Amino acid sequence: MEVRYFLRIQGVVQGVGFRPFVYNLARRFNLRGFVLNDSLGVIIEVEGKKHTVELFLKKLKKEAPPSSSIERIEKRRIPLKKDSGFKIEESKKQEEKFVFIPYDLSICDDCLDELFNKDDRRYFYPFINCTKCGPRYTIIKDVPYDRANTTMDKFKMCKDCFAEYSDATSRRFHAQPNACFLCGPSIDLVSSCKKLKRKVQKSNRTKTQEIIEKTAQALYEGKIVAIKGIGGYHIACDARNINTVRLLREKKKRATKPFAVMVDDLKVVSKLCYLKRKEKEILTSPQRPIVLLKIKKKEMWMQEVAPYQKFLGVMIAYTPLHYLLFYCLRKYTKDPILVMTSANFKDIPIAKEEKEVFRFKDFVYLFIIHNRKIFLRCDDSVVWIFKNRKYLLRKARGYIPDFFPLATEANILGCGAELKSTFSIAKDGWLVSSPYLGDLKEWLNYKFFLEVYDHFKKIFNFKPEIVAYDLHPNYLSTQFALSIEGVKRIPVQHHHAHMASCMLENGLKESVIGVIFDGIGFGLDRNIWGGEFFVGNFSRFLRVGYFDYFALLGYEKAIKEPLRVAFYILYSIFGRNTSLAIDFFKDIPKATLKLLESLIKSKRFILTSSVGRLFDGLASLLRLKDVVSYEAEAAILVETIAEDFKEKVSPYPFFIKEGRTLRIDWKPFFAGIVKDIENKTPSSYIAYRFHYTLACIVKEVCVKIRKRYKLNKVVLSGGVFQNKLLLTLTEQLLRQKDFFVYTHSRFPCNDEGVSVGQVVIASYKIN
Ligand code: ZN
Ligand code: ZN
Ligand code: FE
Repeated sequence: MEVRYFLRIQGVVQGVGFRPFVYNLARRFNLRGFVLNDSLGVIIEVEGKKHTVELFLKKLKKEAPPSSSIERIEKRRIPLKKDSGFKIEESKKQEEKFVFIPYDLSICDDCLDELFNKDDRRYFYPFINCTKCGPRYTIIKDVPYDRANTTMDKFKMCKDCFAEYSDATSRRFHAQPNACFLCGPSIDLVSSCKKLKRKVQKSNRTKTQEIIEKTAQALYEGKIVAIKGIGGYHIACDARNINTVRLLREKKKRATKPFAVMVDDLKVVSKLCYLKRKEKEILTSPQRPIVLLKIKKKEMWMQEVAPYQKFLGVMIAYTPLHYLLFYCLRKYTKDPILVMTSANFKDIPIAKEEKEVFRFKDFVYLFIIHNRKIFLRCDDSVVWIFKNRKYLLRKARGYIPDFFPLATEANILGCGAELKSTFSIAKDGWLVSSPYLGDLKEWLNYKFFLEVYDHFKKIFNFKPEIVAYDLHPNYLSTQFALSIEGVKRIPVQHHHAHMASCMLENGLKESVIGVIFDGIGFGLDRNIWGGEFFVGNFSRFLRVGYFDYFALLGYEKAIKEPLRVAFYILYSIFGRNTSLAIDFFKDIPKATLKLLESLIKSKRFILTSSVGRLFDGLASLLRLKDVVSYEAEAAILVETIAEDFKEKVSPYPFFIKEGRTLRIDWKPFFAGIVKDIENKTPSSYIAYRFHYTLACIVKEVCVKIRKRYKLNKVVLSGGVFQNKLLLTLTEQLLRQKDFFVYTHSRFPCNDEGVSVGQVVIASYKIN
């Protein structure tokens, strides 16, 4: 018996070689019908013998291309049409469009082979790609994903390229960025010693080789260069050249924040860092993020690249251009390692245009520019692996866009927080987040935010009905939310959003305990929260416990200056008695102490329960850092020195005040720390014991909450849980008490995840 099915497939199915795959599969089984892309995904009509069609359906799911992901299949039986064969038909555009646009993919093994094959016509071609690899998200201007809707539209394919593009058996069948030396984009070299020109001259193979050789030589000689990548420009230099890296730090005004490095081979990574199977897998995945890896032996150069760190951010080359550069570098050095940092000054978007990157001309010697336009900027993603689980610290290239099923039909916008800004939208039952967009206080980031938002509105045909936003009145994301007219607005408490994002990815709908340790977040009582114990679900929450408030002296300034937190803590425990035998009082000028005391007396402070800030306070007490140059720097230092401590410790004394809410008194806790400092106990011991005490507090408080509310599931969220040691200890202790513990993987636990939580909460509040 013959049957015909209509199939609508949704998921990441465009730009990943899905149609050729369907086409070849159908031909293999001698089936008739067609496949096409439309604005919602892929449509297939398939006709043939019933059991063969069933087999086809099975294989469709099982053998789909590795970079694709099928999220939904709608299947209907329809009357036979008796077509002559199986065809790929023209894409269709629909009014109600929602399409899964693919993420940017690293070069695949087949293309890599061709790149270095002297007999291949694309030997040494820096833009080689196929349906399995190449740029996607960053070059897409509109949907459906066809060449005319990408920044490749201005390149007309040559005869050979077009033949591949039209041949259903070719790896390049409908590979939208398909190109070669003859017809595609070219690289060009601009030297900062000469006049800067933005126009790219066409390059053949010889010129391309010259450009890359010259750049490799410059890198070897200790020069800094800029290279146009997938989502923007990188600034690169030889990671082992201490003077050059130092110069780069100085010029980028980046005091201590670690740089990531790039290598072209896993073997090089394994010489530098410990590598587990999962880490290898993620490093070489098509997403190619920066992976934080534990350093084996800290060599001299690493001290400059990643000061104080025990971890190194490493990524593997991901564009053909990177591979060509490393190939040429190998003529000069064994195992080349490059610092690869986003071309931007502190806290502004990564440069994507030539005119933007030329601002670095006073220290960048050469620029490799090219004429494949980047439509949307996108930074490198950052992940770490913990117990075989991937944690996204920065979600951008390769992980964007990410489509998460969300049971709502409403069009919802979540505007996110501020320092690590993102937005998320819900449409047609899917949640999609923007990539990391930086600190909104910088107007260039705010502009970037608006740019990406406008793009999302266009490609997802999104028009917000509901707008969810943070309670913080001064956040630019809040003001943005309030400026959108004709919508229903739903304010969402910051830590409730954190909690909801963690619940969503773990499929929790019921009430749970939320432990949210964070930097800062606006509370319902207008204080700054950040050491929170909630019970709740998506619709509502109760604040059932928190750390006793302490003061941020001089408001926001205290966030940049941990010594202000340390001073307040000492002052509130020991009063004006500054005869404590700790270096803190010796190191800090009397005038500063006086100023801080006057801030307390004149009540120029805000109150907070933030655990992130307690880490700051400890960093200053331990004389690690009084003023930070980037967010979480102090906390990272405390974690770093604690990591090596392996012995068993007892917690510092702490006290939980019972009442309607549980309040954690940090005074005995910090008094214990001061005693240890006075006794000249090693800092690594104190730092470790601090982590252990926090974990014990979580355990004790959760046990009390369980007694009161009969809940046994705990979600851990908030930026502080980027701390691997704290996460490990907390999970351990909670599990010992038979709690079910849930953490983040798909959404960041830091403020990048807030927009996700806002959208989910809003979707519940409207029902
Ligand atoms: Zn490829
Ligand atoms: Zn061509
Ligand atoms: Fe937060």
